[in-house]
Amino acid sequence: MGNMIKNICLGSCPNCSKGKVFEDKGGFFKLKLPKMYKNCTICSYKFEKEPGYFYGAMYVSYMLTVGEAVGLYMLLAYVFQFENNFQIFLMIAATMIGLSVFNMRISRIIWMHLFKT
Ligand SMILES: [Zn+2]
Repeated sequence: MGNMIKNICLGSCPNCSKGKVFEDKGGFFKLKLPKMYKNCTICSYKFEKEPGYFYGAMYVSYMLTVGEAVGLYMLLAYVFQFENNFQIFLMIAATMIGLSVFNMRISRIIWMHLFKT
């Protein structure tokens, strides 16, 4: 379990833990989507098992986004003590857009590690 978390954070192959999953990490501010390798560069493990394999990663991404938004709301509400929630909403929306590429990348890695066959 600890190893799995470490591999997810490092973006390592779910099979051999050595190869990298993403060729290019992409980034919202670079206006680039992350680019995945088709197979692991070390063990040739196929990352996308079948077409649509990563649709399920959207649920992981949703879970991450909700968690981040709730955490951020509590932090902002505590630190800034805004009078209305609209300012907080705008800050959360901006942060979520900025984190979208990161969430996409990490959710695919989590998905692969959860359903490794
Ligand atoms: Zn591998």
